[in-house]
Parts: sequence; structure tokens; C-alpha cells
Amino acid sequence: MKTIEQIKLEQPIFYQTIYNEFKQNKRNHAYLIEGHDAYQYAEFLVKSLLCQDELLCCNRCRICQQVSENSYIDMIHYNGKEEPIKKGAIEAIQSKLLKTSVEGHGKIYVIESIENSTPEAINSLLKILEEPVEGIYAVFTCENINRVLPTIVSRCQIFRLKPLNMGLMKDNLIEQGTTEEKANILTHISSSSVQMLELSKNDSFNDLIIEALNFIEDYYFKKENLALNVQTNLLKKFKDRDSIALFLDLIVLGFKDVLNKNNHIDQIFCDHDFILNCQDEDEALIEKIENILTIKNDLSYNANIALIIDRLVYSI
Ligand SMILES: [Zn+2]
Repeated sequence: MKTIEQIKLEQPIFYQTIYNEFKQNKRNHAYLIEGHDAYQYAEFLVKSLLCQDELLCCNRCRICQQVSENSYIDMIHYNGKEEPIKKGAIEAIQSKLLKTSVEGHGKIYVIESIENSTPEAINSLLKILEEPVEGIYAVFTCENINRVLPTIVSRCQIFRLKPLNMGLMKDNLIEQGTTEEKANILTHISSSSVQMLELSKNDSFNDLIIEALNFIEDYYFKKENLALNVQTNLLKKFKDRDSIALFLDLIVLGFKDVLNKNNHIDQIFCDHDFILNCQDEDEALIEKIENILTIKNDLSYNANIALIIDRLVYSI
């Protein structure tokens, strides 16, 4: 299940279109979502169509939870990927939808991978789509819209999801108010949109960024202070392994930035010009980065954080 924030970050156009239309009380009777993993977004749409608590889905109420668990009684859900959709499945939708709603909050049928349907099933489906009934919604997904019959496509509101990539999510973060530097850092550090969002809202992550920048600055310009500053600042504030691992990732980014500068590649820490004055050879930088990555690896089974940081200070 994706949170609303994730949906916004990953597919802002999809999110914004639904938000705007629902706000104007516009709901279509049929939707087709094209993309990899489209069901996750279909689920958001289904909940948004049914949820009684919020304009879009709340992910908390009974209905939203039942949709998550696939147990909402007025919902029929087929997946063409598991087995091709046959005429009988569509007839089952037809007969169930004709009965009155048990919940009274709208009925919905979801067909994943609609491209895997038999021609007979599609014919029956077209009959339902041609005579939309208020309160009955269809949500379809497909991997490739070109494989869905145009007569189906033309009766649906279409969403074509963009493939997820960190660059796109970085742009979305900036659009939502994150600074370019922080968006750069998050793109390089996070392994998923979930982690990206968690870190973007985490205040202590901002402190870690400052500690990492101080470390790089001390290393190049006040090396005699490095050990003491690490002891009195970093290790006082951060005593857990996860934070130290993030700190190590951040200083890798700092040294990478010096390498980037040498090679005229855009800076990750783009708000910190001091990096432009850090002098180092490419080979030495690569060795440092490798050293830090080894230390980070050792961190996972060495409990003594102070020793690990000592090793860091004296090995680079
Ligand atoms: Zn809800």
C-alpha cells in the first residue's frame, strides 16, 4: 500500500488530476491506468472513490482498510496476469453489480492486466461500459495501452504512469519545496521513495548533513581539528549505528563532490562553494571513498561506534 505522500512524489500528475477532479466532484465511471505496478495506484484510486472520510483516500477508515485487504464487499477484483479474464468473470461482475450495494458507498470492479482478456470477455465488458450506472466504477490496469482494444480505451479516463526514477522524484521534491541541495543528497542516499520521504522530514538528518559538511571542511582546511570536532559534535549527538551509517554515506558524497569538481561534474552539495577549493587527486579520492565504504561495511557487525569513527579519522 502506498501512502498519499508517496503517490504525490512518484506520480504527481496522476495525483493532482484526481485531486482536482474530485474537488470539483467529478468522478468517471471507468479508469484505465497504464504502467508497471499500476495496481498500487489503482488501489489509491479505488479507495479515493469509496472513502467517506476524506476527499481522496484516508488509508485509515474501515472502507480503505477493507480495500487494502481486498475484502470490501462491493468490490470485485480480477487479475488478468494470474489467468486470462473470461466471459464468465464479466458476467459475474454484471450480476453482482445489478444487485443493490451492500455497503451503499459505491460498487467497484477492478481488472488488472486487462489486456489479458478473451475477445468474448471484452465484448461483454463493453456492454457494461456503454451503459454506465451511477455509483458503479470500473478501474482497469494494463502494462501496455497499445494492447488494449481502442473501444475499451475510449470509454475510460486514461492515466499513463511514468517509470519511476530518482531524477523525476528529485524534481518532484524540489517542486514540493525541498532545496536543490537536499533533493540532490536525498537522490543519492535513498534507496526508495519511502526512504526519501522519511529522510526529507527527519530533522536529525539535517544535522547529519551539517556534520558531514563540517567533516569535509575540517579535513581539507583544519585537519588538526578533525578528531576533536568529531568527538565533541558528531559522537555527542549521534550514537546509533543507522545515523553513523548515514553520516558515512554523506561524507562519501562530500568526497565524491571533490572528485566531481575535478572532473567538471555538477556538485551534489551545490550550496557549499568551499568544496570548489578542496584540493585532492582523483586517485587519492577514490581510495578515501573505498576506505569509507569498507568502514561502513564493518559498522554493521562492529558495535563500537567510537572505534569505528577513530578508524575513519586516522585512515583517510
Ligand atoms: Zn478512508
